Amino acid sequence: MLKKFILAILLIGLLSACEKIAENNTVFEEQMFVMGTIVNVTLYGEEEKKSQKVFHNLLKDFKYMQAAWNPWKKGSLGRINSLLPHGEDFSIGPALKDIIVTSAELSEQSEGLFNPAIGQLIKLWQFNKDELPAGPPPSEAQIKNWLTQQASMTDLEVGELSLKTNNPAVILDFGAFAKGYAVDKAIEYLLLAGVENAIINAGGDLRAIGSKNGKPWVIGIRDPRADGVIAVAEIQGDESVFTSGDYERFYDYQGKRYHHILDPRTGYPAMETTSVTVLHKKAAVADAAATALFVAGPNDWTRIARKMGVDKVMLIDKQGKIYLTPEMQKRIRLQNEEKRDISVVSLDK
Ligand code: ADP
Ligand code: MG
Repeated sequence: MLKKFILAILLIGLLSACEKIAENNTVFEEQMFVMGTIVNVTLYGEEEKKSQKVFHNLLKDFKYMQAAWNPWKKGSLGRINSLLPHGEDFSIGPALKDIIVTSAELSEQSEGLFNPAIGQLIKLWQFNKDELPAGPPPSEAQIKNWLTQQASMTDLEVGELSLKTNNPAVILDFGAFAKGYAVDKAIEYLLLAGVENAIINAGGDLRAIGSKNGKPWVIGIRDPRADGVIAVAEIQGDESVFTSGDYERFYDYQGKRYHHILDPRTGYPAMETTSVTVLHKKAAVADAAATALFVAGPNDWTRIARKMGVDKVMLIDKQGKIYLTPEMQKRIRLQNEEKRDISVVSLDK
């Protein structure tokens, strides 16, 4: 009797689960403009009213993060940047402490190729501005002078809830990982709100949870040198896809192109790579790694990928050669594969 009862309950549970899918296969899609990019929010299988509420909360949170993390305007990070050069201890909030500590760890793993302490260099190249700069690029003397100061995340002394540095050249700019960190925060909120199937897509960089009616989300990866996509990936469960490309922000000056991903070792834009895509569970890690591997370039990316703990990587160099890890090869479908120069490189030593 008890067995039958349990079976009946199980069946009812199963039926209502089926009904839920059948009833509720609505797709909610809305976008917002924050952090200099269009953020697309897709929620699957939720009631319209709940989706609206969730979207509204996300919008508020993204706006808050945008204001708090801007290195150059009045806000939490702007305040930190104005206090750092004084060389004295000052208080910081727990949210920014977490960003600083997390990014410092990633910076160390990347051998400083992802280096959020290079705010001054970013300013020298004028990539701190909202609008695209027109040049000229900084002089050789300015770059040389910046290099002598060796601004690094290891210069920060992080206390319980305080911060200090003795290196007056340290200015924090989280541009290479803030989008990823924000997307992680957004997904954390969605999970708390009981949303199981969703994508947060910030200008082509995204994290997805669940699926769309049981089918994977299909994601396009942009071709760095042509219109359209170079590859597609299928994402299911909980995973992020982040790409760093030299086409995102650049200016031409006297026939030369200067872009926004800077090599902290030389002070100049990293010139060997055109794009790097990383698949990883956490968006913050994928974002930081995409930037670090871009800077590392075709010769050093495998070592840095190993150290940062990412194994699904695609790097495209300036000749258009595509480097893939075997793990990434399994996950993407390249367009016009037969016409491409592809090298599959294992990260095992
Ligand atoms: P995108 O998503 O725009 O392709 P990235 O995630 O690669 O960009 O981040 C580029 C931004 O990060 C730059 O605009 C600059 O603010 C900052 N940045 C540039 N070079 C580095 C670096 N080596 N380490 C950390 N931050 C960097
Ligand atoms: Mg990045």
